[in-house]
Amino acid sequence: MKKLFALILAFFVFTISAVGLAAQENSQMIYIITANDFHGHLRAEGNDPGAARWAGVIAKLRSESPGGAIILGAGDMFTGTLDANAEHGIPSVKIMNTIGFKADAVGNHKFDVSLQETKENAKIAHFPLLSANIIDNKTQKIAEPFKPYIIIKHKGIKIGIIGLTTIETVTKATQKNMVGLTILPPEVVAQKYIDEVRGKGAKIVILLSHIGSAQNLSGDIVGEITGVLTKVHDVDLAVTGHTHMLVAGNYRHIPVLQAGCYGQAVGEAQILYSKTAGKVKSVHVKYVRVKELPAYNDEKVGKIANAVTSKIDTKYNEVLAINKYELTNDMLGQSAAGEYFCDVMRNTMHTDIVFFNGGGVRAAVPAGKVTYRTIEDVFPFSDNMVQLEMTGEEVREVLEHGISNTALRMLRFSGLQVRADITKPEGQRILAVTMLDGKPLQDTATYLVGTNGFLSLGGDGFTTFKNCKILSTSTSTVEMCTNFLKTVKNIDYKRPDGRLQY
Ligand SMILES: [Zn+2]
Repeated sequence: MKKLFALILAFFVFTISAVGLAAQENSQMIYIITANDFHGHLRAEGNDPGAARWAGVIAKLRSESPGGAIILGAGDMFTGTLDANAEHGIPSVKIMNTIGFKADAVGNHKFDVSLQETKENAKIAHFPLLSANIIDNKTQKIAEPFKPYIIIKHKGIKIGIIGLTTIETVTKATQKNMVGLTILPPEVVAQKYIDEVRGKGAKIVILLSHIGSAQNLSGDIVGEITGVLTKVHDVDLAVTGHTHMLVAGNYRHIPVLQAGCYGQAVGEAQILYSKTAGKVKSVHVKYVRVKELPAYNDEKVGKIANAVTSKIDTKYNEVLAINKYELTNDMLGQSAAGEYFCDVMRNTMHTDIVFFNGGGVRAAVPAGKVTYRTIEDVFPFSDNMVQLEMTGEEVREVLEHGISNTALRMLRFSGLQVRADITKPEGQRILAVTMLDGKPLQDTATYLVGTNGFLSLGGDGFTTFKNCKILSTSTSTVEMCTNFLKTVKNIDYKRPDGRLQY
């Protein structure tokens, strides 16, 4: 009787495990966890949960994925805050190592720091930086330290992960850090690498892109990524970034995912792979908002973040000056902050004129104590300042491009009085330009102009600067402004002063 029972039991155990085995053989679930545009937001602040809580949610999702998950970054992860910028992104790299990222796409903000600094970051990173469309002009190959793709073997299946970078990098990235590099349109190179990883046995292909996507009210995917997905085949998932949106949908049957920004959300793709068919059966994409979940803090990540933020606090809370009136900053219109600091730069560099891109003046300055942090908030993309020569005609060209250009934030300047009619097209908007001495701008005269490195290299489409002779280079914008404030100790600037009338 005992024997018979054992036999029956053995039969059942065999049957159950055989069924289990068959199911396993037929299909396999692959879990992908994604993040993008973390931008070094280490602290819990406002809508940002902070690195520890963000990492805690990723760890939780991974622990709930049977057999584990592959964690991927879709770019612009390292820099963007004082905390992370102080060491050119190293704190973010260490945090991503601790979380266990397997790859990160190269975003436009990879060029916030020099290529040399990115190489140092890449050495510290336990994961590759992927981009298949950034070319070194000298070698005509993918620029070091980037790699076009990786193939990961996970649960016995080869997964090809191809990095792609937004074409907007050409104009949006810090120009001085991109000298010698060419960004190819991602849709031109994508298929070649898809075929290459398939040729090497990849059964699942993921585009890990720092390319924009968005979802309209009816759920349709729009944005730059659609231009890429229209041109490719044999892609199982497109992870996207750059536009800081929450996206989970399909475009031409290709699942598209994006998880917001700043650690506020995490994306997840569940890929059902059929071993029998040798291909993906279905993909389910979704995102979770970190703050809607309980705080599963990752202690290791919390320690790394706290060490950085406490050090930064000490340095950046030093009071430089007292500000009497708020310096306002309407990024599309008038900016007292832009005017005041352009005046500071002109006085420091002793130039006739200063131009500064409106997108580079990011914050108002509240009344009261002005600290190093305040100035870093105003100029988060601080760059070396340069002095160059320009003809009056070129000055006018810069104004035409920069005043109420709908693709840009309003151009900031000092040393000029400008009257414009923004209802007219570019090229006919500027009605009158007067110098500080009241004399009109002379087209053929030469002027000494101060600006930042970004504009001097033609950033934001200001190509005029590229033809100008650079006479000298000075300190960074932040250093120039903080040094000035340490000397004057007070700011007493009330208005936008009417230098721009439109
Ligand atoms: Zn971006």
